[in-house]
Amino acid sequence: MDDNNLRVEEGSEVVSRNFIEQIIDQDLEDGAYEKICTRFPPEPNGYLHIGHAKSILLNYGLAKEYNGQFNLRFDDTNPTKEKTEFVESIKADVAWLGADWEDRLFFASDYFEKMYEGAVKLIKKGKAFVCDLNADEIREYRGTFDTPGKESPYRNRSVEENLELFENMKNGMYADGEKVLRAKIDMASPNINMRDPVIYRVAHMTHHNTGDKWCIYPMYDFAHPIEDAEEGVTHSICTLEFEDHRPLYDWVVRELEYPHPPKQIEFAKLYLTNVVTGKRYIKKLVEDGIVDGWDDPRLVSIAALRRRGFTPESIQKFVELCGVSKANSSVDYGMLEYCIREDLKLKRPRMMAVLDPIKLVIDNYPEGQTEYFEIPNNLENESLGSRKVAFGRELYIERDDFMEEPVKKYFRLFPGNEVRLMNTYFVTCTGCEKDADGKVTVVHCTYDPETRGGVSERKVKGTIHWVNAANAVKATVRLYENLVDEEKGVYNKEDGSLNLNPDSIKVLENCYLEENLAGAKAPESFQFVRQGFFCVDSKDATADHLVFNRIVSLKSSFKLPGA
Ligand code: ATP
Ligand code: MG
Repeated sequence: MDDNNLRVEEGSEVVSRNFIEQIIDQDLEDGAYEKICTRFPPEPNGYLHIGHAKSILLNYGLAKEYNGQFNLRFDDTNPTKEKTEFVESIKADVAWLGADWEDRLFFASDYFEKMYEGAVKLIKKGKAFVCDLNADEIREYRGTFDTPGKESPYRNRSVEENLELFENMKNGMYADGEKVLRAKIDMASPNINMRDPVIYRVAHMTHHNTGDKWCIYPMYDFAHPIEDAEEGVTHSICTLEFEDHRPLYDWVVRELEYPHPPKQIEFAKLYLTNVVTGKRYIKKLVEDGIVDGWDDPRLVSIAALRRRGFTPESIQKFVELCGVSKANSSVDYGMLEYCIREDLKLKRPRMMAVLDPIKLVIDNYPEGQTEYFEIPNNLENESLGSRKVAFGRELYIERDDFMEEPVKKYFRLFPGNEVRLMNTYFVTCTGCEKDADGKVTVVHCTYDPETRGGVSERKVKGTIHWVNAANAVKATVRLYENLVDEEKGVYNKEDGSLNLNPDSIKVLENCYLEENLAGAKAPESFQFVRQGFFCVDSKDATADHLVFNRIVSLKSSFKLPGA
């Protein structure tokens, strides 16, 4: 590897530079730019998802790395779809991810005047013309990949005529679609995007920002380079589908004679295997009521990940692990889970919660007695301190921590077996009570007072967690699985619809939590010992009733590539 492609990070670890960094290094060396500027340009037509997080953190990360600027710009050139709700949610998500645009929040519609002036400039240079062909005719004249296009009969209008007609377009003299402004480039170009592309269209629509001021709107390929150039963006990073549009991008900034034209660089989109990421699909799930809004914890919109209990740090780590490349690929959801698990492992206290409870009665424990145990909050991180937990004669344990007739290698409670109740005492199972259907209702045991603290010379193979019945907090806990059926694949081959997993959510209504969890508030999250990481739900938890979402379970088969 070339030495120029290596960088020394803190801790002097040598990391290879990604291809975008290499381009920027070269540009700075050549003096093409003094200071770099990047931007994130979302269209406010939905909520952001994990793929956008990659783009945000990439752009923001580069600006920071090179001591440059990062702008947030709403691409609101299309007046039909934009909604204020989306603008607000996008701002909240970008800020939550830690990407700081400081005072540089822009709207593409702020540049409508500049774009209009740009169009007039092109007309004056003989580089744009008003065309009367309708949409179908334009498509027909455009040709195909194999055949060159045909020039429009309106292509050779004079500059004066074009100026007048364009002015008329702006003044509302034509109906939608009656006339368009086209760049005059090359109908024989092998790149179809260069075959006299439409750059302005008539659309009598109210825009959320400019109201009825305009009835002509610029097309994306014309507008985007102007937005970048006006803001002094140096590296305009976008995804691969724009690669074929780059010659047009370059043409626009060149013909408009920007002194320091921005440079478009494409990278591959982030995809997660077997996960619905596209805005369109998420939107449909929301509209069809299959999920509970854009922030349903089963989705991978940023709002959903936040509600589920993911942290900005975990997503930063994930994006870092994914890397930047020019080749499309798909990443395992397990990697995202790995990142959140690693992030929370040392940061969160480990509490006791019983999700599928059954009563455990310690028959030789004095009735009415309560004692308190000081329990460390995180054995791997002493700085989290400890807490007091009450213990008494009646407890709740997990139903599957008892078996009347144990299977092989079952080391938890069964008649005659001794186990450790986490951090407290050894108990020996003496039997159980059952209802008329044979379902176990209560498990009985005796404890050994000599094993206080859960230590003894005797060895036991099982340690189970518990919650004190007298002061347990009742709560709802929701467990999530993939929204789509992984066996069948995300999309139905026949009609393109989603193959939904009917069991993507499991709601446990009768969970018991240790008393220290009372009063927990979103977005607080905890480890529930032996179960996973859980976060208070920001929508449904109330002061009287806690609702937790499982963020991720404790174990996984996911292995970090190369590890
Ligand atoms: P979607 O296809 O999900 O609707 P989009 O590309 O239409 O997304 P925009 O709001 O236009 O969404 O995108 C804003 C920026 O985010 C663009 O620069 C786009 O290239 C980038 N982006 C969108 N999806 C991804 C992804 N999966 N991975 C990386 N970047 C993405
Ligand atoms: Mg889009």
